[in-house]
Amino acid sequence: MPSAVLNVADFTDEIHPEPVYQALLDKGVLAYQRCDVSNDVFFPPRWLCPVCGSDTYTWERSAGEGTVYSATTLSPRNKEPYVVGLIDVDEGFRLMSNVVGLPVEDVTIGMRVSVQFKDVEDRGAIPQFVKVDA
Ligand SMILES: [Zn+2]
Repeated sequence: MPSAVLNVADFTDEIHPEPVYQALLDKGVLAYQRCDVSNDVFFPPRWLCPVCGSDTYTWERSAGEGTVYSATTLSPRNKEPYVVGLIDVDEGFRLMSNVVGLPVEDVTIGMRVSVQFKDVEDRGAIPQFVKVDA
């Protein structure tokens, strides 16, 4: 899918994988890496392909759609309960994130979700997921 390839230099001068990822999030892009040697997709951001050890990779833009693989409701004292889920993103990586916008009991395994971005003070944008209506 060549259209998903990102030219990171268009977005940031960073080279370290983690700040590149964050800079892209801050621009509303959910990105992941694809190994140039083995073609494996990997996430979270890192220097080396976990499959073959290559240090050459390409950043790609995710369409931001996926499926809830697992979900847990956390209920902090004196705060609203919220859902932490593992999201299987369609491009082939798994991301831990929040599922928001619906009652926690309505978050189900296998539910289709789509990314949105939330700005967090002193941190920058984070990805969250909302239900996609079938
Ligand atoms: Zn590889």
